[in-house]
Amino acid sequence: MNAEIIAVGTELLLGDILNTNAQFLSKQLSAMGIDVFYQDVVGDNNDRLKQTIHAAIGRSDITILSGGLGPTDDDLTKEMVAEYFSLPLIFHPDIEAGIRTYLKGNMPDSNRKQANIPEGAQPIPNDYGTAPGVLLEREGKVVILLPGPPRELEPMFKNHVRPYLADKTGCTIRSRTLRLFGIGESRVQEVVSDLMASTNPTLAPYAKSNETTLRITAKCESEAEADALIDGMEEKIQERLGQFIYGHGETLLPETVTRMLMERSITVATAESCTGGLLAGAIVDTPGSSAIFSEGAVTYSNAAKVKNLGVKQETLDRFGAVSEETAREMALGIRARAESDMGIGITGIAGPDGGTPEKPVGLVYVAVAYGDQVYVRRCMTAGDRAKVRHASVLHAFDCVRRILLGMDVQIAREICANHLTFERK
Ligand code: AMP
Ligand code: MG
Repeated sequence: MNAEIIAVGTELLLGDILNTNAQFLSKQLSAMGIDVFYQDVVGDNNDRLKQTIHAAIGRSDITILSGGLGPTDDDLTKEMVAEYFSLPLIFHPDIEAGIRTYLKGNMPDSNRKQANIPEGAQPIPNDYGTAPGVLLEREGKVVILLPGPPRELEPMFKNHVRPYLADKTGCTIRSRTLRLFGIGESRVQEVVSDLMASTNPTLAPYAKSNETTLRITAKCESEAEADALIDGMEEKIQERLGQFIYGHGETLLPETVTRMLMERSITVATAESCTGGLLAGAIVDTPGSSAIFSEGAVTYSNAAKVKNLGVKQETLDRFGAVSEETAREMALGIRARAESDMGIGITGIAGPDGGTPEKPVGLVYVAVAYGDQVYVRRCMTAGDRAKVRHASVLHAFDCVRRILLGMDVQIAREICANHLTFERK
């Protein structure tokens, strides 16, 4: 079964807004095993909309339109689809009553138009707005009309359209994304190469910026069957790569770890050199982090490290600003100053200049003072300044994650090596 997506709205053609609905719908449809062969964008114009609808319904099994369901005169989608199939628009008093309730009794006359549905079509409830969607099956084709605002379209698709389409295709496709930090895509691929031969569920690794994801996808008659297959596959992956897997789905490492600190009520303070406040910013990105984040210091110069964190001049002279010892004193210094439970220090060489053979560009030390210990990780990242700084922040979060989970803070690459040796025997 194939599908086509038509995004309607002149604002899209003008470049005023990004066509995120097409991206969302394409992703959803492909995850269901429905091929999307065309995406169209058309303005709020009768003739061109009609032409686009004509072409799409002619060549595609499922046509999904987004936008143009509003109350104003330039919202024409329903009218044009009704005209294509020569169907009259029928007024539905119950839909009007629903809109009136949603608008708390304050309904302008123009909204009445939203209660019109092509004859024989099914309205799709809108839990987040006034315009209902429309589902029409006609002449062997499926046409689905969805409202433009993503916060209305996305739940409408997930709650009402997806189950309908899953029923139609006779199979459910479920996916689970495992997120990994501290191991590259090619290494992951080596470790799970035998599992990648599986056809149901399938397993696919993807490289993201400074992390790797593994997507497990199962195709079954029911969600429960698919989930069971996915569980089985995840179990095998956890055995091999568990230490690197920090989470599932769309939540990234900074938020995952900040929430871990929040759940445990562990207060934290940061002292940053080469990351220049990126770590503090990444903590603050998570809503509610004020409960655990006390302060962040950007101590770029040696003098600032001494003055604000109490790093010893002797340490700087002897080991240098980029050293395990300095990182350690930064973490301890900021923790003492902030009187927090945890202190994190980051110091390194982000480049492009400043590297030496002993201390090359990309070398960063992350130290975490927690309880009566200071944990230090020496990190090496290849790449430009932005990549090194971003990776350093992620390393800091990963160290905190491992400490909170009682794991070794060092990335134990030999675990993978052992596995590989074992597998090849
Ligand atoms: P409409 O349903 O055409 O009245 O659209 C209402 C609003 O939804 C527009 O002003 C946009 O802000 C948003 N919108 C419409 N189409 C899209 C789209 N394809 N992608 C993202 N947002 C959209
Ligand atoms: Mg519009």
